[in-house]
Amino acid sequence: MQRPDQGKRRSWAPTGRPRSRGFPAPIARQILRRDPECTLGLRGCTGASEQADHIVPYSLAIQLQWPTEDIQSPDNGQGVCGHCHGVKTQGEAYNARTSLKRRTNRLRTPKQHPGVVDNAKKG
Ligand SMILES: [Zn+2]
Repeated sequence: MQRPDQGKRRSWAPTGRPRSRGFPAPIARQILRRDPECTLGLRGCTGASEQADHIVPYSLAIQLQWPTEDIQSPDNGQGVCGHCHGVKTQGEAYNARTSLKRRTNRLRTPKQHPGVVDNAKKG
């Protein structure tokens, strides 16, 4: 067994934004490829996904005793623009209580969210 990258230091966060508990880079790329448009579409949204966001926040998923692989799965990720991500993160504690049920619901039934249609038509 060879480990080609052994000893080589990797530079994390190539885009310069140090994030705690982000998705692993390959997963984040996968999410952004799947969701090229921001899935939140909040006021001030820039439209294009720049970051992979946890649908169920990491800290909350831990409380719910999700296995890490579920937390870090692309199924628990959504592409968001930097703006919406910031807004969402600020309101996360609040959102977590109010819409967790809806969001986990969406996870269990992985079909097109009705709200997505609206978004897609806009462009
Ligand atoms: Zn956005």
